[in-house]
Amino acid sequence: MEAKHNYINGKWISSSNGNVIEVTNPATLEVIATVPKCGQEEARSAVEAAAQAFPEWRERSAYERSELLFKWYSLIMDNKDTIARTMTLEQGKPLSEAEGETVYAAQFIQWYAEEAKRVYGETIPASSADKRIFVARQPVGVVAAITPWNFPAAMITRKAGPALAAGCPIIIKPASQTPLTALLLAKFVEEAGFPPGVFNVITGSAKEINKVFMEEERVRKVTFTGSTEVGKEIMKGAADTMKKLSLELGGHAPVIVLNDADAKLAARQTVLSKFRNAGQTCVCANRIYVQDRIYDTFEKELAAETAKLKVGNGLEESITIGPLIDQDGFRKVEEHVKDAVSHGARIITGGQAAESAGSSNGYFFEPTILSGVTSEMRILHEETFGPVAPLIRFQDEAEAVRQANDSPYGLAAYLFTANINHAVRIAEQLEFGIIGINDGAPSSVQAPFGGFKQSGLGREGGHHGLDEYLEVKYISLGLHD
Ligand code: NAP
Repeated sequence: MEAKHNYINGKWISSSNGNVIEVTNPATLEVIATVPKCGQEEARSAVEAAAQAFPEWRERSAYERSELLFKWYSLIMDNKDTIARTMTLEQGKPLSEAEGETVYAAQFIQWYAEEAKRVYGETIPASSADKRIFVARQPVGVVAAITPWNFPAAMITRKAGPALAAGCPIIIKPASQTPLTALLLAKFVEEAGFPPGVFNVITGSAKEINKVFMEEERVRKVTFTGSTEVGKEIMKGAADTMKKLSLELGGHAPVIVLNDADAKLAARQTVLSKFRNAGQTCVCANRIYVQDRIYDTFEKELAAETAKLKVGNGLEESITIGPLIDQDGFRKVEEHVKDAVSHGARIITGGQAAESAGSSNGYFFEPTILSGVTSEMRILHEETFGPVAPLIRFQDEAEAVRQANDSPYGLAAYLFTANINHAVRIAEQLEFGIIGINDGAPSSVQAPFGGFKQSGLGREGGHHGLDEYLEVKYISLGLHD
């Protein structure tokens, strides 16, 4: 078993007290590596390193920063098989999905390597002839990033790409379940030749490390992806030093399937949204509202598509659903199914641990469809984060929209219809940051990703993602002849 190190100030270090965190393969429950269990001391040295690196990094030309980002992008692409395999080992997702995520992650670096050169300012007509108004955009400063386990590479590059492009050094605190992918990304940062302190990865106690991020005046921006609960803590903690914040939090995505939809297409796209990463995505379908006349056909098509999925160890070739990340995740899924069934839901397929996966050790759950789900069931109010598709029958379009919006979350929503009028009208009424119309996989590097309501603050991806790392500076020039 390998003992990995953290990457701080261009050096590979262990924790000062030698403590480690064990990283477990969720498919086999084997410990595959250890990483340092760092705390406040190491977090302070990471902030110090990033703060030291900031002036020089900010002053490099955008073209130089861009060139380094392109090198990093190429190294990730050249090593995508190694990264994908590491990701599958520590996170469990099927190898094909891990390869897909690695390319997606690399594309954020590529996109922001291009975008680095387009941080434009403005000139604004002044109200008197002897004044000129200029607007410049400047890097915000040291960035602290806290990331989740469900996308071990992409949630890092979606933050590091724009931060580095803007001229900000970054410190990454990856999820304790999936630190190995983060450390591999750091290895390629080192190979690309970024200056020390510009990109740092620290693993360890989230609470201790976050305490330093919150207290340190020099950390000017915190970008977090994870649960709404922790997001709220971070928001409160950031108030004392008034940090800029980006929060990508939980979701509870509704899917609305109208009578006029193509049932096959809707089923295929719903399976894509629902079962990707074993249902452990913030944008995955959690409540599937199906109109009365298409309900039975859609249910059959969904069951047929779901039957094609194969659960097991993600390293095996034909596997399309890996294990859940840990026992807590597994229990939550089990509880949601039990609760729904006890309130009258019918299991169409699945509904229990997947023994067929052959590895009873791992946290495997069968892809599950529940029919006749109603609003008193927990599954309609809480993020399941697992492979369970609850179907709810509805009659009236307005009622479906009302129910879809009846949630504290507002990240992604999906709509299936063949009628453009319905599509536009409903998309405009849905209170969500991302709307997929006849599209179960809307995430892309060029587009602004983020949520309304308690799903978070700010946007990642596209040019919107870069703005999150820039301060706006207004310069007023008086002309005195
Ligand atoms: P989580 O428990 O909130 O953990 C996320 C990160 O926060 C981890 O690095 C974790 O570190 C750290 N953390 C935990 N407690 C903390 C604290 N008190 N202070 C500071 N940091 C703390 O979430 P998760 O279970 O890993 O991820 C699943 C959640 O992320 C879901 O709700 C999902 O919807 C959301 N998500 C949202 C998006 C989006 O873009 N909106 C994308 C992906 C996931 P440790 O691992 O060391 O505990």
